[in-house]
Amino acid sequence: MLLFTPGPTPIPESIRKAMSEPTLHHRTPEFEAIFASARAGLLELIKMPEVLMLASSGSGAMEACVCTFGQKKVLSVNSGKFGERFGKIAKAHKIPYREIINEWDTPASLEEVQKALEEEKDVDCFCIQMCESAGGLRHNVEQIAKAIKAYNPNIIVVVDAITAMGVEAIDTTHIDALIGGSQKAFMLPPGLSIIGLSKLAIDVANERDVGFYFNLKTELKNQAQNTTAWTAPTTIITGLKKYFELINNDFESIYKATKARSLATQKALESLGLNIYPKSPAIAMNTIYDEANAAPLRKILKSEFNLNVAGGQDKLKTSLIRINQMGLIPIEQSLWVVNAIELALASLNIRPFNGEANKIFLQHYYALQS
Ligand SMILES: *Cc1c(COP(=O)(O)O)cnc(C)c1O
Repeated sequence: MLLFTPGPTPIPESIRKAMSEPTLHHRTPEFEAIFASARAGLLELIKMPEVLMLASSGSGAMEACVCTFGQKKVLSVNSGKFGERFGKIAKAHKIPYREIINEWDTPASLEEVQKALEEEKDVDCFCIQMCESAGGLRHNVEQIAKAIKAYNPNIIVVVDAITAMGVEAIDTTHIDALIGGSQKAFMLPPGLSIIGLSKLAIDVANERDVGFYFNLKTELKNQAQNTTAWTAPTTIITGLKKYFELINNDFESIYKATKARSLATQKALESLGLNIYPKSPAIAMNTIYDEANAAPLRKILKSEFNLNVAGGQDKLKTSLIRINQMGLIPIEQSLWVVNAIELALASLNIRPFNGEANKIFLQHYYALQS
């Protein structure tokens, strides 16, 4: 079965092999060397002053950031299931919050953010997704973060980049906390979350000393020494070290290939008459909206073509198809995906097969490569 869901993503063989070595104790020089290597790779990738690894899925890092940085009021962008989660975390911890809510295909506008900041003078933490995976939507984080810092440099800008880290180059100039997760572009099992931190975020985390398990001050102290406060997810961190070896820290090539694959897939899907759902599509995934046919299409893709793509969530559960582009994906697999979709459309009598999807994919893919 080909796994083409926007997380978890398939784990390459070399990473699986690295993770199958006998378990190391986490308080040993051997593991600390592995930790140091993974940490160096992350710092080179995100280009921020500090990075922390936590034993949790991505939501754990989101919770750590909301609790540490949102003391007075959190302003969060909710254009989908993951944006909604920031508000839910604030609510669960009884931290005052205000949400900017939009349809799942609509990115937050700068005007909405500025209006909310004018109305909510006590906001000290702003939370947004770089890519909102519920609808495959890219927010204009760069523009919004810059404007927030110009308005008040003390507002901590938290960016959930779980489906952007390792996918595209991220400008972290105006970002204080950048969240990543193991099961997306890093092609690792779920269970490791990542937080990149700015100088301001480091100072605030140390000063506030919030929480117990997710206490960023405790982790900052430990991880600078290449160890963790609690038992580290040693297996996944071993896999992360291998990930950086596998890609040889050549992030630019990954970004270029991912973008070419994603745009070529989008063009191929459009050539079949399919609708791309988000108004500003992210690179990490391609999202198709088809209320009538998304569910039957997914069923055929799985049963007849051994292809597992994701549906939607909640209200869009049976209206969306989400196709992963994160990680290292061989081009023959990408071709198979658009071809299988074209064949499935033919078997539902929606459109006769003529090989258009592969042709359009290749035309755009090679144009973007050169
Ligand atoms: C996958 C994902 C998460 C993490 O969710 P977990 O289930 O906690 O791993 C958070 N935000 C976005 C945008 C995601 O795509």
